[in-house]
Amino acid sequence: KEFRNNVKPNWCPGCGDFSVQAAMQRAAANVGLEPEDLAVISGIGCSGRISGYINSYGFHGIHGRALPIAQGVKMANRDLTVIASGGDGDGFAIGMGHTVHAIRRNINITYIVMDNQIYGLTKGQTSPRSAAGFKTKSTPAGSIEQAISPMELALTAGATFVAQSFSTDLKDLTALIEAGIKHEGFSLINVFSPCVTYNKVNTYDWFKENLTKLSDIEGYDPSNREAAMQTLMQNNGLVTGLIYQNTERKSYQELVSGYSETPLSQADLKLDQAHFDKLVAEFM
Ligand code: SF4
Repeated sequence: KEFRNNVKPNWCPGCGDFSVQAAMQRAAANVGLEPEDLAVISGIGCSGRISGYINSYGFHGIHGRALPIAQGVKMANRDLTVIASGGDGDGFAIGMGHTVHAIRRNINITYIVMDNQIYGLTKGQTSPRSAAGFKTKSTPAGSIEQAISPMELALTAGATFVAQSFSTDLKDLTALIEAGIKHEGFSLINVFSPCVTYNKVNTYDWFKENLTKLSDIEGYDPSNREAAMQTLMQNNGLVTGLIYQNTERKSYQELVSGYSETPLSQADLKLDQAHFDKLVAEFM
């Protein structure tokens, strides 16, 4: 169960993504996976490199498209555990349409977003997670847009597993990824993963001062969607832990007729030329 490979990450020293990588590797081992059981699909951005740093199947896709690829992989081979990953720009800007539809579809994959509230790979521009007033090269007078609230948005879109963590909380983050992998449906885990090079506002110290652990809120019940929404709004989204889980709703795979019989990857796909020709003719 060795999920480390010999590729040295080229993230800046101190980047939060190192801990996310370690948590993913530990979680995969803890749930009993072998490297050949796991596929890590990533988008573009500093964090998108993560698929190359884990000893598993991997696909470094295109900007904002980690989720369509990950969903295709899962539909073709339900036996694989599929983790999609990328940054907040990748998932909540160009890829936001895919994020919302994967959530409502409830396909059984885990999506880990490394949220550093800036575009790091392109050297520090405002992201959809940057707060209003945030100054970067692209917004020298401060951003005039509000930051997106991914956890509230996920709840609204019908998510069945919504969690948030901080990259330094390795134990908690690992446990959340394990829970996300085991969840029968789409799991979204947003991880505050500081960019030490370009984001001088949302630093490790800033998160330590501003984050509230849900485990410290007496009586917090992650099965209560309304309470989850209320808690997020009261804390400006700055909470960590399992925010919401619904174990009742069926996953996409459970609802697809015939899906459970044979994974596409193992099916005997002999081309029926007559059927194919008829299909093509219908579109002519
Ligand atoms: Fe990490 Fe920021 Fe460096 Fe990218 S630029 S590797 S996000 S610290």
